[in-house]
Amino acid sequence: MDRKGIIIVVSGFSGVGKGTLMKELVARYDRYALSISATTRDPRPGEVNGREYFFLTNDEFENLIRENGLIEHAGYVNHYYGTPRKFVEEQLDKGRDVILEIEIQGALQIKEQYPDAVLLFVMPPSASELKTRLEGRGTETEQVIAQRLNRAREESVGIENYDYIVINDDLDECVTRVDEIIRSAHNTPSRNLDYINEIRNELNEL
Ligand code: 5GP
Repeated sequence: MDRKGIIIVVSGFSGVGKGTLMKELVARYDRYALSISATTRDPRPGEVNGREYFFLTNDEFENLIRENGLIEHAGYVNHYYGTPRKFVEEQLDKGRDVILEIEIQGALQIKEQYPDAVLLFVMPPSASELKTRLEGRGTETEQVIAQRLNRAREESVGIENYDYIVINDDLDECVTRVDEIIRSAHNTPSRNLDYINEIRNELNEL
């Protein structure tokens, strides 16, 4: 039976640590490929073009949208973010699971286009812990932190659209739980229709 790649959408409030979580997941298991998004926001100290993001101008981003080069895109705190199509499709064809670390508007666009996608929402242990983590990052102004907390309040209303939540308290445990969820998702009938039909046909020929 061929293993088909599926899209794993990972969302979570800004500051919840989903970036670290996903980096750890792809480092630990080589069946996962992490998609690199395009954005119009400025790089943070230490971020490298082509590693954390493809940092684009507004014009470059709008060209990509026009050329159908993104499978989804959204606006987030005054900037564009989007997922390049080519990498995702290549990896899925190779049977690898592709991780998209994106916000909720993008997640819903993915679910429409790829009904097999698994939508995961990373939760903080508590709201005050989230605020502490955002402040501790030390790379954002007070105003941006306030905007991101506001956005978290808005996003918290949409969590019911996701398939699973995971709580990011202990990094190692959380990585294990995410891997278990993805493995289980591969075993649902709806994600194995070709195989099920093959067995049905063989049964009919016995
Ligand atoms: P940050 O600026 O903190 O790196 O990301 C801000 C938000 O944008 C996060 O919620 C992140 O998940 C989301 N994001 C990153 N890349 C994409 C993308 O390609 N598409 C969408 N829709 N959201 C993204």
